Amino acid sequence: MQPAPQTANVKAMDEMEPTRAVVAQAARIRAAVIASREFAAGLFDQLRRDGHDDPGVSRDTYGPGEQRAHETCAAAAAAMGLTIERDPAANLYMTLPGLDTKEKRIVIGSHLDSVPHGGNFDGAAGVVAGLVAIQALRRLGCTPRRDVTVMGIRAEESIWFQVSYIGSRSALGTLPDGSLDVRRIDTGRTLREHIADCGGDPARIRTGPRYLDPSHLHAFLELHIEQAPSLVEAGCPVGIGTGIPGNFRYPEASIEGSNDHVGLPRRFRRDAALAGAEFAMALDAMWADYDARGVAMACTIGRFHTDAKQHGLTIVPGAFHFSLDVRAYDETVLAELDQRVDAIIATIEQRRGVRFHLGTKARAAVGPVDADIRAALTRGAAALGINTIDLGSPASHDAAAFAACGVKMGLIFVRNTNGSHNAAEAMALEDFLDGASVLTEWLVTQSI
Ligand SMILES: [Zn+2]
Repeated sequence: MQPAPQTANVKAMDEMEPTRAVVAQAARIRAAVIASREFAAGLFDQLRRDGHDDPGVSRDTYGPGEQRAHETCAAAAAAMGLTIERDPAANLYMTLPGLDTKEKRIVIGSHLDSVPHGGNFDGAAGVVAGLVAIQALRRLGCTPRRDVTVMGIRAEESIWFQVSYIGSRSALGTLPDGSLDVRRIDTGRTLREHIADCGGDPARIRTGPRYLDPSHLHAFLELHIEQAPSLVEAGCPVGIGTGIPGNFRYPEASIEGSNDHVGLPRRFRRDAALAGAEFAMALDAMWADYDARGVAMACTIGRFHTDAKQHGLTIVPGAFHFSLDVRAYDETVLAELDQRVDAIIATIEQRRGVRFHLGTKARAAVGPVDADIRAALTRGAAALGINTIDLGSPASHDAAAFAACGVKMGLIFVRNTNGSHNAAEAMALEDFLDGASVLTEWLVTQSI
């Protein structure tokens, strides 16, 4: 069912006095989005049931949890009459055809996987928002000029394969070499095998043409819950993204010292655990230094432990294991941090007679938000009467993979209490509908 273009109404609005026209249009957009309230609530409930894994949800990357979420969203989109496609990485594309299908398309998307025992809205909110926005466009009688595709992206949560943006980078042809042979940390099976399990064609990811050609994309927009409490603190339902941090990561780093007797004097020790502790405190001091200068960055040691096979009350630890994620919003800052981490390591190695083995280094580029999209989203939110703040993303998002390919990118954050990557993560449906309204308003402006 193709609704008629809304050209006549839009023209009529243009002839009105601007403020009244904008206000009237905003009210219509808001009403059109709010009419999808039950649809959104129902889809979120279904996704929660599909991923249920007490506590919270587990939509495991390229596993049954993620697969069910893809099937649920595809079924909802099919019921809406959207065109359904999947690429060799098993990403899901749900498209509302535009008036000119040869125009560069708009992609709205986010991921449908989650961390183990995560919350229901991390990722999924962006996909549901895309479907809500398309329903709203139809209610407004607005057929977009160009195709609007809602993308259910695979494998964003790098906890499973320890590789960033697997789904989006596969679609864009930028998945790093060797990624398909990486093993999932719990199953021990390769990414290649997992993709095939989910109906994908891993061989074609590397050898076939890329499914999404960046030069054929008008823009990529992602709505995502905020994963820090800034919007809660500011009392705003929606944040307009200013950028996504880049990072460098060491998923499997270790420190080699010497296992020794508990009575060994300090001067003879090569204590890997104390070296790890010194490293952690030095990183925290480095972060405090950047904080004091107002430079946004973060470093996280997600894993930090002695060797369980050998550690014990009476043994000086000879091995220590950790992971490290360092992120910043500026490539220059990131490069500087890289050097400072290396310098800290060199100092500790010399002082304590230990060796750091950093293992494989993973990198993700900084994801800059397009200035025009950001300004348009801010204007749109103001017209809708929705309070916003500008917000640097604390987390990594697929939108960064699109930005890295030169695709214009925009981000909308929705207030979320109780933090993220946990079962207590919470987003009010009203706040979600506010975010979806900002998204819809932007789509309407692109269609005029
Ligand atoms: Zn996410």
